[in-house]
Amino acid sequence: MSSTSYNPYETAQQQFDSVAEKLNLDRATCELLRQPMREYHFLIPVKMDDGSVKVFKGFRVQHNDARGPAKGGIRFHPLETIDTIRALAMWMTWKCSVVDIPLGGGKGGIICDPRNLSEREQEQLCRGYVRQIARNVGPFTDVPAPDVMSSAKHMLWMLDEYETIHGAKYPGFITGKPVGLGGSLGRTEATGYGVIYVLREALKELGIKFSDTTASFQGFGNVASHAVSLYQQLGGKVIAISCWNEADKKAYTFRNKNGFDVKELTAITDSYGTIDKDKARDLGFDILPGEAWIEQDVDILVPAALENQITSANVHKISKQVRVILEAANGPTTTDADEVIRNSNIFLVPDFLANAGGVTCSYFEQVQSNMNYYWEKDEVLSKLDTKMTSAFRAVYELSQNRKLYMRDAAYVIAINRVAQAVKSRGWV
Ligand code: GLU
Repeated sequence: MSSTSYNPYETAQQQFDSVAEKLNLDRATCELLRQPMREYHFLIPVKMDDGSVKVFKGFRVQHNDARGPAKGGIRFHPLETIDTIRALAMWMTWKCSVVDIPLGGGKGGIICDPRNLSEREQEQLCRGYVRQIARNVGPFTDVPAPDVMSSAKHMLWMLDEYETIHGAKYPGFITGKPVGLGGSLGRTEATGYGVIYVLREALKELGIKFSDTTASFQGFGNVASHAVSLYQQLGGKVIAISCWNEADKKAYTFRNKNGFDVKELTAITDSYGTIDKDKARDLGFDILPGEAWIEQDVDILVPAALENQITSANVHKISKQVRVILEAANGPTTTDADEVIRNSNIFLVPDFLANAGGVTCSYFEQVQSNMNYYWEKDEVLSKLDTKMTSAFRAVYELSQNRKLYMRDAAYVIAINRVAQAVKSRGWV
């Protein structure tokens, strides 16, 4: 999405193919799992505030539902492409499988920029999206959620439209809803916290204490802001955060080598994760180019923005000090950059394991919604910690026993489970 020449679907298929070969998967299973089972493309006409009608393009891709209903977010982005959605739907299948929750993989998107749409226009767009897809999604078929630039308020409009069409209450249709209106406590923090739960396990294995580490983050949206906050509570020191500036149409890296309290930055950040650079300068931050996050002398690098961020063009700029790359975003590393990391001393926690906390908590939300009984926040977060920790342990142990790169180990576990499901159901 970030560059026209890069195609995340090709990356997702290359990753699948190389592990499928190691697993000796039969031809039919490979053919079934290396592409989406179903996809929907549709147009969404919206009456704009100025009286004109704008036609938006929407997608929903269901990669695989052998282990349960398809599950995955709906992204809003001006540069959205169907291939990006295909890749992300595929990664959702592996993500749900690696944490062993009974869900498949899906993803949706709308080509739009919500930053330039009024509240009313956003509502019409959400309702229009659901009107186009209402027959092909649902609590027992495909359950959407928030993703890049979509949030709880969008989910509630989508739910409301779905319930209006179907004439009953279906709180399990969508997750990431507002708390008090079917949402789960802890869902907002879940992806970011999950990232840090697996970091905790990784540092344990590497014999490193949180308080001895520094980190640089790319992104300051919902995932990064909660990850930074928990990382700091556990004693880590963040020295740089890079984020997009919508007004300047470019990213900046905000650095303070002495470390800083995330609350200072949160107070000057808008709801899309853009940090006010004048106010940051007043607080003593150095304002560096967007790419500078990757060159910092830190122990931990956390790409927590979009796909295609660690590439052959910048992977060599990673400092020798870096011990861990924690992929909080989906697909942040290209295949060629991944080769370089694989052959280095860096310990990588792959995206679909590292950021599985969001969908794991979505699963808890769905369970709570379907039984109409909601748990306390502590209970949700402790269940989340248990799931993330055991998924990390299984991947780590396999990587140690079979001398596998962490990404390959995660793929082996995830693909095996899905391959088993399609086989047991008699599909292949
Ligand atoms: N959008 C999140 C992801 O990429 C969460 C998906 C969900 O909760 O269904 O994992």
